[in-house]
Amino acid sequence: MNIPFLDLKAPHNELCAELQAAFDRVLDSGWYILGNEVKQFEQEFAAYCEAEHCVGVGNGLEALHLILRAYGIGPGDEVIVPSNTYIATWLAVSYAGATPVPVEPDERTYNLDPLRIELAITPRTRAIIAVHLYGQPADMDAINAVASKHGLKVIEDAAQAHGARYKGRRVGSLGDAAGFSFYPGKNLGALGDGGAVTTNDAELADKVRVLSNYGSRIKYHNEVKGFNSRLDELQAAFLREKLKKLDEWNTRRKALAIEYFNHLSPRPLGEGAGVREIALPFVPEWADPVWHLFVVRSQQRDVLQNYLAERGIGTMIHYPIPPHLQPAYAELGYREGAFPISERIHREVMSLPMGPHLDTDAVSSIARAVMGFSRA
Ligand SMILES: *Cc1c(COP(=O)(O)O)cnc(C)c1O
Repeated sequence: MNIPFLDLKAPHNELCAELQAAFDRVLDSGWYILGNEVKQFEQEFAAYCEAEHCVGVGNGLEALHLILRAYGIGPGDEVIVPSNTYIATWLAVSYAGATPVPVEPDERTYNLDPLRIELAITPRTRAIIAVHLYGQPADMDAINAVASKHGLKVIEDAAQAHGARYKGRRVGSLGDAAGFSFYPGKNLGALGDGGAVTTNDAELADKVRVLSNYGSRIKYHNEVKGFNSRLDELQAAFLREKLKKLDEWNTRRKALAIEYFNHLSPRPLGEGAGVREIALPFVPEWADPVWHLFVVRSQQRDVLQNYLAERGIGTMIHYPIPPHLQPAYAELGYREGAFPISERIHREVMSLPMGPHLDTDAVSSIARAVMGFSRA
């Protein structure tokens, strides 16, 4: 067997002619920054997310950072973030000059636990960043309820969840504003870096647009000290082609997730069981995830990963070290044990191969190998 964790080339092979044509459009236009392709993509992606506005930006981290800046969140402010997430969620808060305040997740869904959010709120709290981790929406109604009670902004980190639905509604329009990443490996990925902010808040969209382009609305007139964080015309042109395929590719991911569930029945427990038990993802009835990652758990995660590697199956760990234990966040002074749920998750999770071009037979072979391990 030789099954890579992710085949990034296959989607582009499928769309080869369309991507070539998109490249030619931009080349022929003679316009490379903030032109028609970005404008069109912004309209198409806003419509896709069922949001009123979309602003293209340089990447996902910048999308979150610029939202915080536009809301005037900065030094002295606190922003609630999940204790288990990709570090970019925290970095956005740090770059705005505010302090990330970690909150432990619901251990079944890996997403923010609304009950714990309330305990972390102080007079300095200004916003909550809810991450839709692994492509599964967070419990947004409950999070929005806590936020409105305390007058906080709710920002979605939707970098892993393009197209996911919560109670029938698309992520990207469930809070005050949302940040998306188009890093190549995401469900909607560019052929390089890219990102976007979606929102129903016209004023916020306008501020992000100005901040992303040197603080300027009219060329060479600078209202505020802005940044250079724009989506390229070329990437927007590619993204427009890939957006047309997103629902089909997400549907394909769902079919593969079902295939995994069908083969990876929680194992019947026998003598000495437990140690090699494999835990499967949990999907609440209101969630319609897009399976950015298919994440299983094992107390013998590292042994399992090696076992699969020996059989030619590529896996990854999302993520091996929680943000609070990264040297980058030594300044916050957290020690091991500060966020035990998150630490346990980081020790036990492992992502199996997943992507729109993985075939069903490969999934059954992977599942057989995982069951072989759990029965051994
Ligand atoms: C990928 C990712 C980001 C950052 O996106 P970039 O485009 O790489 O800057 C932020 N948050 C989460 C949860 C992500 O997975």
